[in-house]
Amino acid sequence: MRLACIECDLLVRVGELVGRQRAYCPRCGHLLTVSTEDGLTKALAFAVAAAVLLAAANFFPFLSLRASGLEQVMTLPGSALQLHRDGYTSIAFLVLGPILLVPGAMVATVVALLVPLRRGVFAPWLVPAGRLLSFLGPWSMVEVFVIGVLVSLVKIAAMASVVLGISFWAYVAFAVCFTAALSNLDRLQMWTEIEALAS
Ligand SMILES: [Zn+2]
Repeated sequence: MRLACIECDLLVRVGELVGRQRAYCPRCGHLLTVSTEDGLTKALAFAVAAAVLLAAANFFPFLSLRASGLEQVMTLPGSALQLHRDGYTSIAFLVLGPILLVPGAMVATVVALLVPLRRGVFAPWLVPAGRLLSFLGPWSMVEVFVIGVLVSLVKIAAMASVVLGISFWAYVAFAVCFTAALSNLDRLQMWTEIEALAS
């Protein structure tokens, strides 16, 4: 199986890895793949948990602000809707895309890939889904968003009292499960299994 190094684009032929062996790029030293036992099963479990948490993050208050007797409750979709109403539709998409739409699509793709792989059956969408996942990866900004919220909270806290809602905690838990799902999803193992089922 040949893997492209995502740092320097070198095509590397990687043999079968056993135990917790790692493969590094011979040119730049970037970690190409780690073989993990049950890595794909863990990735599927984390992806399902991430899907539930991301759905929950949409339906509850994200945070509420209280200042001089006025209270403003904000939800994630609500904040984008407000930007759209104020005439900033492109910014609404820039907000929603990397934090909700792209991560949501990635979680759905991981589940659609791993359910057939774990059952050992071929599905016609396996190859396009594997490619879609690599394409979407750089557009997801889940961790950036969580850190951004925390930084802006420090600033807002000086002006108003801020109460973090259920949705905020659901999103933080989602970020943890999302990262765990992707780090357990080994590209080499995934493509080896897809190839074995396709032939
Ligand atoms: Zn490299």
